[in-house]
Amino acid sequence: MDQQKKLVVGWFSFTCSEDSTILFTELLNDHLDEWKKVVEFRYLKALKSKNEIAGLDVAFIEGAVSSDTQAEEVKKIRGHAKYVVAVGACACTGMPSASRNEFVSDEVNQKIAYYLHHFDYSQKVKKLDEVIKVDDQVPGCPMTVSIFLEILTKYLKLFNISPDA
Ligand code: SF4
Repeated sequence: MDQQKKLVVGWFSFTCSEDSTILFTELLNDHLDEWKKVVEFRYLKALKSKNEIAGLDVAFIEGAVSSDTQAEEVKKIRGHAKYVVAVGACACTGMPSASRNEFVSDEVNQKIAYYLHHFDYSQKVKKLDEVIKVDDQVPGCPMTVSIFLEILTKYLKLFNISPDA
């Protein structure tokens, strides 16, 4: 008997509060039985200790990009994924994680300069599509669940994956 074809998915978090990850794990309460038939969660650090990024169909990326190291990591993910979906306002717009880009007082800027100098931070916090090509976006802070579900369904269809296939 042929094995059920599955959508190979990765879920990644960068600079953010990870609330969309929490929301996603909550969704598993209702959708785990259905999803495990059609989705392989190949990279999902919130739930598994063994994770791989090779051969992803879709990478869901939450959070803004706040360092050169993170920029390299998202580029690496892009290189391993056929499609990339930005999840939540921080990934889609940069905000609120990018708030520090807009601080204007000298006192605050001096403190920021200290952190920029002493830790692994880039000068500006970037939204995801300033660093890599993004194919879809799930807006919301945290993500809008109905749009996330629509996008997941879209990719299942795109890859001709259904529980009855
Ligand atoms: S979009 Fe909102 S909920 Fe999501 S990580 Fe950013 S701040 Fe947190």
